[in-house]
This record gives sequence, structure tokens and C-alpha cells, in this order.
Amino acid sequence: MTVKHPAIFVGHGAPTIALDAAKGAPLQAWGRALDKPRAVLVVSAHWERAPVTVGTVKTAPLLYDFYGFPQPLYQVRYPAPGAPDAADRAADLLGAAHIERSDERGLDHGVWTPLVHMFPAGDVPVVQLSLPTASGATAVFELGRQLAPLRDEGVLLMGSGNVTHNLRAIGPDGSSPEPWAMEFDDWVQDALTRGDVDALRAYRDHAPALAQNHPTEEHWLPLLFAVGAAAGERVQFPVEGFEFQNLSRRSVQLG
Ligand code: ZN
Repeated sequence: MTVKHPAIFVGHGAPTIALDAAKGAPLQAWGRALDKPRAVLVVSAHWERAPVTVGTVKTAPLLYDFYGFPQPLYQVRYPAPGAPDAADRAADLLGAAHIERSDERGLDHGVWTPLVHMFPAGDVPVVQLSLPTASGATAVFELGRQLAPLRDEGVLLMGSGNVTHNLRAIGPDGSSPEPWAMEFDDWVQDALTRGDVDALRAYRDHAPALAQNHPTEEHWLPLLFAVGAAAGERVQFPVEGFEFQNLSRRSVQLG
């Protein structure tokens, strides 16, 4: 029996989610509801590199790529197996000449802070590909489109970022979200629900308050990766809401 896996986008937010049972609960429920994949291939906001680069295919130490957080966060371990088969298939699909490999690169917090909730046993192999921001938004969308066949081969394709993300404007957690963040989040929800891939791709023309919500676009682009991998397919939102006044927690399942 062959399962076609969805393409997903995870709003990872602050790294402390890894140790937050309440915020982690909807991710845990989501992980239980998904068909268990043979591997997860992740494109995270926290590894930007062009050309597209495949991270390590071995179990490697996690990257604690954040500063000033509580010490227990630096002691989280997630020794998931590597996914050399999925990495090789991705290289085939992209054309091996167009990608690079980095056996040194372990998983960053955009990858492991959600996965410790979604697949807590750590038994699902994981491989990370870099986000080719410098190649442009169309290239990120195309990366998802080109890798879409992996969904039929047991691989869960996952983008990790945030639908809205302005660290310069964050406020106390639990306080009311900024109106400009809610407006942007609503626009994304509406466009996804309508399957309006063209509007999402032309976000620079259509999205409200883009510069305020994304002073830089690395947290936005992983959504385009997921949309590229499952354009126009059925959409669900397993996580919604905000933290720290402007970080949308909206997570998306397509297909
Ligand atoms: Zn982040």
C-alpha cells in the first residue's frame, strides 16, 4: 500500500517550544494523525544557502543556533537517523549538478524544535536541505515542485518558518497580536483555503504589510516550498494563533 504523504509547513516560533508541553500539544496531535513517513525532508528558515545543499545524512549533534535561552534547551537531544536514500532521490530529482552536499551540517532548531513533538520517538530519519533564498522565491517554489514526487515514495516534505515574523517588534507572550500580523495571517489563510497559488507566489504584489511582517523573508519562504510541493491541494491548519505579539503559529498541511 502506497501512501501519498502531504507537504507541510510548520510555524516553529521561539525555540523554547521544544520544552513547552502546552505549545507542543497540537504538534504532538498532528504528528500522531500523520501517516508515519519513511523519512522527513526539511527546508528551514535557519539554513540559507544557494545552491541548494543537502545536510548530513548521518546522525549528528544538533545545532543550538540561538543565544541566551534557558540551559535545558541546550541539552535537548534528538538523535534521529539520517536519510541517505531520500537525500539521493532529492539529488536525482533536482539534478545532481545543481546541488551541493555538506556532511558537516547537522539539524538546526527550525528542524528539531517541532520534530521533538511531532515524532517524539526520534525514529523517523531526517534530512535537511538548505533554503536557497538568494536564488529567489520562484526557485524556492520550484524546489518544492521538483521534490513533490518524494511524497509518493514515503517522504514527508516539510517547510519550517513562520507565516509572520518580525523579531524587532515582538512583545510579551500571551498579549494581543499586532493588527498587521493578524491581517497578514488572515490573508495567508484565505489564499491557501481558496487554493490561490498565484496570489501566494505573487505575495510582493498582494500580501498586506509585507515589510512589517517579514523584514527579511527567510521565515516566509519555507511556506512557498510546501505550496510548491502540493499546489492547490486540500488544506488543513493543525496549529493556529500567535505568540510574542507577531509570530504566527499557523501550521499548514497540504494534501
Ligand atoms: Zn526561526
